[in-house]
Amino acid sequence: MLQYPQLEQYLKYHFGYDHFRPGQRQIVEDALQNRDLMVIMPTGGGKSLCFQLPALLKPGLTVVVSPLIALMQDQVEALRNNNIAATFLNSSLNSHQVRSREEAIMTGKVKLLYVAPERLMSERFLPVLDVVKEKVGLANFAIDEAHCVSEWGHDFRPEYRQLMLLKKRFPQVPTIALTATATDRVKADIIDQLGLKQPSIHIASFNRQNLYYEIRPKNSRSYSEILEIVRENEGSGIIYCLTRKKVDELTLKLQKDKVAALSYHAGLTDKERSENQTKFIRDDVRVMVATIAFGMGINKPDVRFVIHADLPRNLESYYQESGRAGRDGEPSRCTLFFSFGDVKTIEWSINQKTDPQEQLIAKQQLRQVIDYAEGTDCRRTIQLGYFGERFPGNCGNCDNCRYPKPVQDWTIEAMKFLSCVARSKERYGMNYIIDVLRGSKSQKITVNKHDQLSTYGIGKDKTADEWKMLCRSLLHQGLLEQSNDGYSVLKLNALSWEVMRKQRSVSLAVPMKPKLNLEDGGVKAAEVEDLMHRLRSLRKKLADEQAVPPYVIFHDSTLRLMAQVQPKTLEEFGELSGVGSYKLSEYGEQFLTEIQSYRIEKAAQIFKNSQSLSSVANDYPSDTEYSTFELYQQGFSVQEIADKRNVRTTTIIRHLSDLIEKNQPVDLNQLVPLDKQKKIWQVIDVLGDISLTPIREHLGQDYSFDEIRLVRAKWRKEQK
Ligand code: ADP
Ligand code: ZN
Repeated sequence: MLQYPQLEQYLKYHFGYDHFRPGQRQIVEDALQNRDLMVIMPTGGGKSLCFQLPALLKPGLTVVVSPLIALMQDQVEALRNNNIAATFLNSSLNSHQVRSREEAIMTGKVKLLYVAPERLMSERFLPVLDVVKEKVGLANFAIDEAHCVSEWGHDFRPEYRQLMLLKKRFPQVPTIALTATATDRVKADIIDQLGLKQPSIHIASFNRQNLYYEIRPKNSRSYSEILEIVRENEGSGIIYCLTRKKVDELTLKLQKDKVAALSYHAGLTDKERSENQTKFIRDDVRVMVATIAFGMGINKPDVRFVIHADLPRNLESYYQESGRAGRDGEPSRCTLFFSFGDVKTIEWSINQKTDPQEQLIAKQQLRQVIDYAEGTDCRRTIQLGYFGERFPGNCGNCDNCRYPKPVQDWTIEAMKFLSCVARSKERYGMNYIIDVLRGSKSQKITVNKHDQLSTYGIGKDKTADEWKMLCRSLLHQGLLEQSNDGYSVLKLNALSWEVMRKQRSVSLAVPMKPKLNLEDGGVKAAEVEDLMHRLRSLRKKLADEQAVPPYVIFHDSTLRLMAQVQPKTLEEFGELSGVGSYKLSEYGEQFLTEIQSYRIEKAAQIFKNSQSLSSVANDYPSDTEYSTFELYQQGFSVQEIADKRNVRTTTIIRHLSDLIEKNQPVDLNQLVPLDKQKKIWQVIDVLGDISLTPIREHLGQDYSFDEIRLVRAKWRKEQK
């Protein structure tokens, strides 16, 4: 039996939503019963609604305590756009404005008042509250970012301490405390400091289902990958870097590539910072490149991606920072670029700390970040485990779940590597060992006479990157040690010797190249994107007219629904999630008109296309591939083409493979004997589309990488 059966109707009427998010309904019910409440929900969980809806359903004023001016203004603007009587009091107002707002409050014209703690508790304002209590009643106190009350939290604000007196002065007014971060210690502190009476405690799961988590190796291609993520969608994004310098460099690069990006860090003036932030919130720029100084109090719900270009210091901050993506519940991407170079940098700065206890904690936290980045388990399982929440894995929305890495036996390679460390007397770092293994002719190696070691050149079958991957994994699994003196000299331990004596096997999770994730119904998806683009422009125009952030008009999720459903009448429009009664009457017509004109244009276009129907191949060879192809057609051999074009034969093989994949007439039979083709094909069928090395390992030395590459290309073509 539902205690308040009409709650969903009120939710739709005031806010336009059809359903409560997990936990919200119960919290609203408790609030309507005048209970004290402690609400712990992740960012984007929907905390505000937990006190906003009760505020509208209960008589009297609800007072919301909020620490940041920007946050207050955002929330009030969003509420007003749902025709809800909300206002704020803070230092940005002049005395005349303050007086007229207080007047409105005392005469019951306001349902929600946002106010900073120091103003609320001031000698001047408390008497105003007394009057409100007498004349219109006090419905609730809502304490947002309640962890600010605790010295044990990460964001203690002394002003919050004064709130202790609130319960003393107004013992009958129920209090709702809300926060996104709370360890047990902070939770107890909040309850104690605010004097909550037998509070009903709600702790939501910290699992953010709509966020896609991935780790990518950080290397010379990382910038183009960042650019790709930025260009992949139209929405906003945040890119975190470790230092101001990096922030500025990356911003500049992006701007050169015509991305609307701005910087945010402590080196800018207050004015510049707040201007940049406003531009970001209002969608005047799309990308904010920032140090971690940016983000606290940014309520922007439609951040579509958060990229960490550098390693975060601990998992908690990674969770909070990446969690700024997708507050609106729409799919969003969190990408972390991981490199051992970054680990070194952070290790170095940890070593500068003088307090040994601090050092220890920092090292442990760094270890956890590395384990997260290197882990092959579901990223959610690792993250949530960190917060003490058990998650079964298989989330289907992280890289490890979508592209599980096959575990391979690398015992032989490990033996080669470790014995190379042993033979060079445990005096060198990773790169040197790899050079020896791969038979480098560098002077250092010849001078040391290491080209005479039995391990010299026995590792040519693996790339330097593959050896690095192995080395890191050995370090990770504790099968090898590394000195801490800044030189990272590799050292053997008891386990290393077990491996070398074949008493212990070594397995390695080998990353696969993620397949392109084309959404099904690509055409439909493109159409939705197209229309969304237009609706976005309309939204931006309306927002600018009112000088509010675009999401205040409609969220991305609502625009997406418009583009998918393409309503034809106001009634249909009003049914969309995110369209409440007020927004329907205010904006319905304009958005309907835009959708209709899109449909008309679309119809005209389809007609035109059908008249000039030609099959469009989207896989054209590139110019350089085409030059190779021309020579190939003239009958030249691979070697001859390579000579003529002055490139290596592997490059020509690469071109020919890509040409095969792009369905160009390259005859595989001339390049790879039939029986070999068959064998290779069978192995790929079993292993799937993976890199050449593991395929070759299955096939043995008789098969060259070139042959495998060519057959794999044909195999790929067949899969399309
Ligand atoms: P928090 O304060 O917990 O980080 P917010 O209160 O800002 O989160 O809510 C996050 C977003 O989710 C907001 O944009 C809000 O409008 C939206 N939202 C809240 N409740 C619902 C709901 N029941 N259905 C759909 N969207 C919701
Ligand atoms: Zn997962």
